[in-house]
Amino acid sequence: MNALGELYQQLIIDHNRTPRNFGSLEDANRFAAGDNPLCGDRIKLYLKVADDVIQEIRFEGSGCAISQASASLMTTAVRGKSLAEALNLFNAFHGMVTSPPDALPNSKALGKLAAFGGVRAFPARVKCANLAWHTLRAALQGEPQAVSTE
Ligand code: ZN
Repeated sequence: MNALGELYQQLIIDHNRTPRNFGSLEDANRFAAGDNPLCGDRIKLYLKVADDVIQEIRFEGSGCAISQASASLMTTAVRGKSLAEALNLFNAFHGMVTSPPDALPNSKALGKLAAFGGVRAFPARVKCANLAWHTLRAALQGEPQAVSTE
């Protein structure tokens, strides 16, 4: 594995071991739950949105390292962002993990989120990486039903 790949792997291990923004949020005004039955990953997202900006975001979840690290990194990426910016990030992330494995990630838009580009080599893992982002989109768009990757 090259140096960048190792750096990315460390980032995922670190966020899985020490998830950022973990827990519930008492004054949340947006909520969504998602699950990926294929792998057994579950995510609950709590957001406080005001003035079109994600003021606060927290998550609870369980499942594989990819799903939990992705949720942790997603919360750090969208906290403080406008809803439009967050949806742009959703599109950039979704575009990356569904592109061919040899396509270069848009690392300018994605930053650390480019770490998940490696999942493209493992199609079953794409849903693990995507779960937090689909749940985020559901929370932002106010879709009432639970999200499932199936
Ligand atoms: Zn998983």
